[in-house]
Amino acid sequence: MRIKASTGSNSIACVYVSEFDNGSLVVMVESVQPPLPRNKKWVLIVSTLFGCPVQCPMCDAGGHYRGRLSKKEIFDQLDFLVKSRFPDGKIPVEKFKVQFARMGEPSFNPSVLEVLEELPLRYNAPGLIPCISTIAPSGASSFFEELLRIKRKTYSCGNFQMQFSIHTTDRELRDRLMPVNKWDLPQIARYCNEFWQQADRKITLNFALVRGMPVDSEELQKHFDPERFLMKLTPLNPTYAAARNGLVSQIDSSWDETRCEIVNGLRKAGYEVIVSIGEMEENLIGSNCGQYLTEHLATERRLIDSYSYDIKNHS
Ligand code: SF4
Repeated sequence: MRIKASTGSNSIACVYVSEFDNGSLVVMVESVQPPLPRNKKWVLIVSTLFGCPVQCPMCDAGGHYRGRLSKKEIFDQLDFLVKSRFPDGKIPVEKFKVQFARMGEPSFNPSVLEVLEELPLRYNAPGLIPCISTIAPSGASSFFEELLRIKRKTYSCGNFQMQFSIHTTDRELRDRLMPVNKWDLPQIARYCNEFWQQADRKITLNFALVRGMPVDSEELQKHFDPERFLMKLTPLNPTYAAARNGLVSQIDSSWDETRCEIVNGLRKAGYEVIVSIGEMEENLIGSNCGQYLTEHLATERRLIDSYSYDIKNHS
C-alpha cells in the first residue's frame, strides 16, 4: 500500500488516499473528537471496498466499483494508522473505535469478518470497539449471521457498536437514498432483537437528515425499543454527489435543535437522541464519505488534462 495523498489536521481528522497493487485508490481516516484528547477517544475509519456498487445519491464513494479489499489490505490501512501514532502497537486509548465505513458497504466483503476475528490479537488495545455501519442489503444475510456469532464470542458486554443507516421512514424515499434491495424496518428490528444482549451498547439508527424526507417517530416506535436503540441525527454530508443530485441537508448553520420537530418527536417517544453536527473543519478537510478521494481524483484528472493539452499544443 502506498500513500498517494493526505490532508487534515492532528486536532480533528487526517484523511489519507492510498493506492494498492491493483492501482485502485481508497480513503482512510483517523480522527479525534474535540475536546476529548486522543487517549480518551480515537477513531479509525477504513475502506472495505474499492468504490461501492450501491451508489447512494449522496455518497462520493459510489461509482468506479472495482471489488473488495482483502483481509491484508484492510489490515494494511489499520497498521499504517496505528503505527503513525503508536509504533509499538500498544494503544492506551479509553475508547478506540475501528469503523468499517469509509468507502464501501462492509457487508459486501466477508474479509471484514476475518479482520474482526483477528483484531483483538493484532493490537494491544483494551479500549477496542469495532463498529459496523451498514445499509443492511438483502443479499448479505450470511454476513450478518456470521457477524452475530463473532460479536457474541468476542465483543459482548458493550464492546461492539452496530449501526444501521435509516435516513428516512418513508419507504420510497429510503429506496431513492439507498438504491438496492435491503432490509425494511421490521427486518432490521428482527435481526437486532437477536443481536442485542444485556449490557450491550444500544444499537444506533443513523439518519442523515435530508430536506423533505420525513422521520416518523411513531413508525419507529412500532419496531424499535428505546431501551435497545438510539437515534443519531447528522447533517447530510456536503459531498459532490449530494450537490449533483439536488439533496439538501435539513441541518444547517441556522438549525435549532430545540425547535426541530423530528428531535422533539423522537425524544417524546422515549429515544435517546444524539445530534452529531461534527466539525465544520472536518467538512473542509474532506473527511466525509469518499469526498477527499473525489477531490484527489479531480486534481489528478486536471493535471492529466492540462498535461495532454500541453502535449497537443506543443508537439
Ligand atoms: S453510503 Fe455507503 S452504501 Fe451508499 S454508496 Fe456510500 S459507501 Fe456505499
